[in-house]
Amino acid sequence: MLIVQKYGGSSVADAEKVFNVAKRILKAKEEGNDVVVVLSAQGKTTDGLIAKAKEINPKASRREMDMLLVTGEQQSVSLMAMAINALGGRAVSLNGVQVGIETTNSYSNARIRKIQTERIENELERGNIVLVTGFQGVNSHGDMTTLGRGGSDTSAVALAAALHADVCQIYTDVDGVYTADPRVVKDAQKLDEISYDEMLELASLGAKVLHCRSVEVAKKYNVKLSVLSSMTNTEGTEVKEESKMERMLISGVAADKNVSRISIMGIKDEPGKAFEVFTLMAKEKVSVDIILQSTGRDGRQDISFTIGKDDLDVALKALEDNKARLTAETIQHDDSVAKLSIVGAGMASNPGVAAMFFEAMYDAGVNIQMISTSEIKITVLISEKDIDTAMVAVHDKFKNASVNMRKN
Ligand code: ASP
Ligand code: MG
Repeated sequence: MLIVQKYGGSSVADAEKVFNVAKRILKAKEEGNDVVVVLSAQGKTTDGLIAKAKEINPKASRREMDMLLVTGEQQSVSLMAMAINALGGRAVSLNGVQVGIETTNSYSNARIRKIQTERIENELERGNIVLVTGFQGVNSHGDMTTLGRGGSDTSAVALAAALHADVCQIYTDVDGVYTADPRVVKDAQKLDEISYDEMLELASLGAKVLHCRSVEVAKKYNVKLSVLSSMTNTEGTEVKEESKMERMLISGVAADKNVSRISIMGIKDEPGKAFEVFTLMAKEKVSVDIILQSTGRDGRQDISFTIGKDDLDVALKALEDNKARLTAETIQHDDSVAKLSIVGAGMASNPGVAAMFFEAMYDAGVNIQMISTSEIKITVLISEKDIDTAMVAVHDKFKNASVNMRKN
């Protein structure tokens, strides 16, 4: 078998952990597999590098930031090669340029376009374990780029796809994907499997276990993906095409606190206003999430939407600068809001899921500010202070519901 493994920063944080992982890698090799391993930077290295840069130049160019950040992953792979070699194995470390992980040009948020497999395949043929830096590649200018925070997951899945690996194992400090954050919801359950679509929703809705784009790539190339613990030998969660006939109604509850809401009140109720508002946001590269437009009264209407907290200042400035042209009466904002979502592929065919969700919110005394839905998810915007209570209440509601359903 050809196995691609990925170990996150917390799994390789110090020498002891590096050796723990080195032994796991060697075990996979000794079982007769070809092994390619993607590593993240050790512990909080990336945060540390960003802090260093800020001390020197808070407005550093993205190119130089990438040049700096790629060093974190290079430390991890070279140290891991040394550990494996010290244990009597044979490993070689490679960075994104050496492999030929070709990306788009956009520094700090590049996308993988193509991966050259020759160098890796040659090293495997020589009997080497190949250690590849996560989170990075090289663009058409020959410069190093990074894939955005958490991007090593995507490196691993993309490598697995390019190499036609049999499986891509993502090792982390939790032992799988849970129905809710186990730190908040004490009886959250580990899922033994989840579909690509559900995982994609959960990842983009704030579940931090996998980088969103890694799931996109896995789905596109049908990569068999597992999320596992680097500390234990328990079975993890498999992310794959929908397969179970019988399933729980909801596969997960996710919370995202990185949200602010903007409300533009009293805009003239005429065609083109929403277009103007969201063109402004697009110009500022602000991505907009939930949108709510009120029905008009007295020729006026309100438009509310949510954005990431980091984008609030730019967004407000752009709107204030154009307030008159937008015919807005007032522009309000709130950054103490959070999103709570439920995700489940069974939702589409089970009426009543929304009612149960809202009942749980009502029972918990939580007020809903905005609602958004898709075929497999429902998201509500609520006050940030209510998020943990709401998460527990919603998780409870659906946990009981699935038990009842099986009984009937
Ligand atoms: N080291 C990078 C980060 O901290 C990439 C990763 O860990 O996946 O974001
Ligand atoms: Mg990560």
